[in-house]
Amino acid sequence: MDCLFCKIIAGEIPSAKVYEDDTVFAFRDIDPQAPVHVLIVPKEHIASAKEINETNSAVVAHIFEVAAKIAKDEGLEDGYRIVNNCGDSAGQTVKHLHFHLMGGREFTWPAG
Ligand code: AMP
Ligand code: ZN
Repeated sequence: MDCLFCKIIAGEIPSAKVYEDDTVFAFRDIDPQAPVHVLIVPKEHIASAKEINETNSAVVAHIFEVAAKIAKDEGLEDGYRIVNNCGDSAGQTVKHLHFHLMGGREFTWPAG
């Protein structure tokens, strides 16, 4: 399958790995938008949040457990943001479900 993140998970494209287990892979974003910017992805190819259903949603819960662990390891005690872009109009550029874990700076809401 021609999927950038599947290739990163398989080690065919290099990445700065932060965490890996049987079902989840995490690596540093190549174009960081914060001092800490990690992408957390399921190893299973799920195209976007739209494709989450009762058969594959357990990995999403696990991703949030992993996010809490990475945030702690990265020293983000003051808070952090977890973002998922779903679909073209939300700015999803890679069609493999991923959660952006960002921290180390102040964030505004609703944008930026
Ligand atoms: P999104 O726009 O939500 O689909 O996020 C895709 C993210 O993947 C962007 O933040 C990119 O900077 C990041 N990205 C693209 N290619 C790579 C790569 N080879 N290694 C790490 N991150 C990447
Ligand atoms: Zn994929």
